[in-house]
Amino acid sequence: MSLTNPSIETHRQHFASDNYAGMCPEAMHWFMEANRSGHQPAYGEDVWTQRSTDMIRELFQTDCDVYFVFNGTAANSLALAAMCQSYHSVICTPVAHVETDECGGPEFFSNGSKLLVSESESPAARLGKLTPDAVEQLVTKRDDIHYPKPKVVSLTQATELGTVYTVEEVRAIAAIAKRRHLKVHMDGARFANAVASLGCHPSEITWRAGVDVLCFGGTKNGLPVGEAVVFFDRDLAEDFAYRVKQAGQLASKMRFISAPWVGLLEDDVWLRNARHANAMAQRLYRALQGIEGVELLHEPQANSVFARLPKPVIDALYARGWRFYQFIAGGGCRFMCAWDTTEAAVDAFAADVRALARA
Ligand SMILES: *Cc1c(COP(=O)(O)O)cnc(C)c1O
Repeated sequence: MSLTNPSIETHRQHFASDNYAGMCPEAMHWFMEANRSGHQPAYGEDVWTQRSTDMIRELFQTDCDVYFVFNGTAANSLALAAMCQSYHSVICTPVAHVETDECGGPEFFSNGSKLLVSESESPAARLGKLTPDAVEQLVTKRDDIHYPKPKVVSLTQATELGTVYTVEEVRAIAAIAKRRHLKVHMDGARFANAVASLGCHPSEITWRAGVDVLCFGGTKNGLPVGEAVVFFDRDLAEDFAYRVKQAGQLASKMRFISAPWVGLLEDDVWLRNARHANAMAQRLYRALQGIEGVELLHEPQANSVFARLPKPVIDALYARGWRFYQFIAGGGCRFMCAWDTTEAAVDAFAADVRALARA
């Protein structure tokens, strides 16, 4: 077999997304073990799915309902669909993945629930966050029958801008949500990075703070594929298995999604992976400081660095083969670190930025 695209070098690291990285060794180990376990019942009736879902319940110290799906778009869309009727609405930020990057999946799977975005100009909004005030404002804006009734608040943790809600911030938003009879959804595609950053117990920023459903990301943390939808409010999980199946998200060989989760959860590999990615973002942030023409946008709290660079520098970085995104949340370039990002890759990239900025 030959490489069909010679412009993609192998063995080179990039800063486009943490989903550019491969599978971590622990996930790979249990993937192989699952393959060695002979014939196993399909559709999640296997020992691996039992084991990994038990481990998630132990991790969160509560009896939650857990479902695996292939990706984050499905996790979010199906979770929100389970929380809403078609005439309901979901409060989120204008940069929320559910709003900007899921091709209308949440609206589609909920048969029309509308996303209500908060305003984009406040200090919190510039950090990609909702606030209790923003939620209150959207809930009280209208209460007539012509407006889709707010039903859910969706928080992204860590946020799309690489910031992290504190435990107090999650609690305060969830308190408003409770008062206003809203459910709380957490898009945790980078939940691990948030927990690693906060140093808190995972239960503290989820169900103990008032989160009803968490989409727990595995892919960006070192899995080949697969996210866990975790229902802390188990009533919301009623008939969820049917929803997953209808959406084409029920893996028949479920063990190949669930067994790698055992690798992530055992010995807190998920946290180690996230801590490493976060540390690499800190390293990159420091390396980019003081380079003329490079405007760092805010201090990273998770595994991404946001910066504005002059266009000739961006073009020259691309010409040198680096890959990174510019479209996330408008304006800046996003440099994302992964579980396997090396110090050498960070240093080489920063050195190229410095050299090109001087040229
Ligand atoms: C990556 C990501 C997702 C999931 O994306 P998929 O490509 O569908 O797996 C969801 N939310 C956020 C914030 C993400 O960054």
